[in-house]
Amino acid sequence: MAKRDYYEILGASKSSTQDELKKAYRKRALKYHPDRNPGDPQAEESFKECSEAYEVLSNAQRRSQYDQFGHAGESMGAGGGNPFEGSGFGDIFGDVFGEFFGGSGGGGRRSATRGQPGSDLSYNMDLTFEQAAFGYSTELVIPRLENCDRCSGTGAQSSKDIEVCPVCSGSGQQRIQQGFFSVATTCSQCRGTGKHIRRPCTSCHGRGRVNARKKLKVNIPAGIDTGARVKLTGEGEAGIDGGPRGSLYLIINVLEHSIFERDGYDVYCKVPISITQAALGSDLEVPTLGGRAKLHIAPGTQNDSIFRLKNKGIAHLHGHGLGDLYVKIVVEVPSNLTRRQKELLEEFATLSKEDSTPMKKSFMDKLKDFLA
Ligand SMILES: [Zn+2]
Ligand SMILES: [Zn+2]
Repeated sequence: MAKRDYYEILGASKSSTQDELKKAYRKRALKYHPDRNPGDPQAEESFKECSEAYEVLSNAQRRSQYDQFGHAGESMGAGGGNPFEGSGFGDIFGDVFGEFFGGSGGGGRRSATRGQPGSDLSYNMDLTFEQAAFGYSTELVIPRLENCDRCSGTGAQSSKDIEVCPVCSGSGQQRIQQGFFSVATTCSQCRGTGKHIRRPCTSCHGRGRVNARKKLKVNIPAGIDTGARVKLTGEGEAGIDGGPRGSLYLIINVLEHSIFERDGYDVYCKVPISITQAALGSDLEVPTLGGRAKLHIAPGTQNDSIFRLKNKGIAHLHGHGLGDLYVKIVVEVPSNLTRRQKELLEEFATLSKEDSTPMKKSFMDKLKDFLA
């Protein structure tokens, strides 16, 4: 499809002044703006078309190229073609719509007078196994930037000491010419605030914020685990020029326990028993998070047997219920036997018929087949 003439798109002519082009563009861009025509691809197309046209014609050099060579002239300049690729587009939009949308919305540049939000902070918090399992309340001391009390965050000794930045005239941005494009960058003089402070506040030296140590009460919910983030909205750093506060994130790390291991809300624990307890059965006392519990094991309990104690695990973080406790039996073979113990075990061995235990019998049968 042939490209339409840029002047035609804007409803202007070759003799139109920059002001007339700007007015023409504004009229069309407002009409076709996507915010006013949601879900209308035709309007979006027209919007892009007139934006592209104005981008080229608003630049004296590119306009003269276009006048001489038509659309072919565009490829001679960097960034020709897609109007959204060139660094100039956002700028042009800001120029035309800055005053329309009060310097906000519509992709205009950010107003320098509005505050910037404070930074988010993160705090690495180690919890013991039990603190994580049962929940934990404590007080933290968080170093963070707070608004300066003396100047209420303005950075100036008094309101009379605040002037408009002479470099950027209060916009907070500077223009730098790069080839055909004018690029907006943050004003180097005022760092984007748009203000010049004649006499800085002596307490914060003009920064408006001071380093402080804030005591914070935090409640960690039961069931939290390593890697969880607890967000404390508004407990980050103070905003600049009245901007909103950042948030504080507690990054949770649960420390290892000497007895318990955790998998989600279930807890695992290894309990060693003797061969006689395993062979004869026993009433064991096993540890749980809430204290001791009784566990009966039947005669002939094997090594690695696992017993589940329902609801003896960790409380679910969101919602109700508890995990389970899994007790794994470790049969410990005695070493360093006394002479008497040895005699008794030898007697036991002669009494026990060779290959009489089920696992061993099954293994010997398989072995016979294998070696046959
Ligand atoms: Zn400035
Ligand atoms: Zn101050």
